[in-house]
Amino acid sequence: MNETTAQLLPGPGAVDPAGAAAVLRHARDVLVVGHVRPDADAAGSAIALATALRRAGTPATVAFGGPDQVPDTVAVLDRDGIVVPAAEAPADPDLLVCCDTSARRRLGDLSDRLDRARSSLAIDHHASFTGFATHHLVDPVAPATVTLVRRVLAELGAGIDPVIARALFAGLYTDTGGFRWGGADAMRLGAELVDAGAEPRELLRELSGTRPFGWLAAQATVLAGARSEPDAACGAGLVWAVVDACTATRYRDETVTIVGELLATAGDGVAALLTETAADAWSVSLRGTGAPDLSRVATALGGGGHPAAAGFERTGTRDEILAALRAGLAA
Ligand code: 5GP
Ligand code: MN
Repeated sequence: MNETTAQLLPGPGAVDPAGAAAVLRHARDVLVVGHVRPDADAAGSAIALATALRRAGTPATVAFGGPDQVPDTVAVLDRDGIVVPAAEAPADPDLLVCCDTSARRRLGDLSDRLDRARSSLAIDHHASFTGFATHHLVDPVAPATVTLVRRVLAELGAGIDPVIARALFAGLYTDTGGFRWGGADAMRLGAELVDAGAEPRELLRELSGTRPFGWLAAQATVLAGARSEPDAACGAGLVWAVVDACTATRYRDETVTIVGELLATAGDGVAALLTETAADAWSVSLRGTGAPDLSRVATALGGGGHPAAAGFERTGTRDEILAALRAGLAA
């Protein structure tokens, strides 16, 4: 992304990267957070930003509002140990920065910090962004939140060391689907980050290249239970599968690639992975081609996201979730 392609969301509190840098420069101390169950974009954005702030002498901490168990993305990127459990996150930070987070509820256990912090800054790229912070830097056409963080770091005059480069590269690679989206700008940024010390082979192996042996059988069971509904989504089709609570507890970090497997068989249709997070509580990941607009579908079901990748959380039986999803896709 560059200046000419950016489409910053307007509205009260809207800032450009220079404005975001000014907010950060005036902060006495900063708590940087991302959405619950952080993916590499959320974790990478938060860790890169907090690392740069610390290097510049501003006290900065990173935390995520759930789950308690540290996700692989965070463990792999947190080389300096700047991520603390949610329970240990500063209670009244001077500035709260929310990365890759489209709505207040996506902060989970840390959503109270929005009220307790003196001010807040959201840095995000979801079209479904809901203005919940004092300031926001939001570009729905940015391929990843890390591209926005990179621009803020440039405004701050912060150098990109290997820890920051790794964190930014992880988010860029993941959210662009391995540079499928984001065009030449994403690739140029990728090259810049590799020059600055991100090592794709080592990093991607740590992020997603290794799995426990037991995942082979667990994945086979999930995929064997997949169903195809060619008439769903107004004839575009729906392929869905379920990860039960037991498998989710054991293999949560591994399950993220499954929805891609489903999508590969969905033609121009939609893939949905229903993950049972507790009894009758579900997290649903949606993937598609952009039509239908899954951000719209997920937002109507209480979630959010992007046209081709979205999600929502909802309670009910499996069949109730499926019925709601079919209705959403038919609307
Ligand atoms: P995922 O499949 O990784 O859970 O989510 C897909 C995309 O939708 C991500 O970019 C995620 O940030 C976005 N998203 C926005 N709001 C929600 C939500 O309420 N639930 C979920 N699961 N994803 C959401
Ligand atoms: Mn993202």
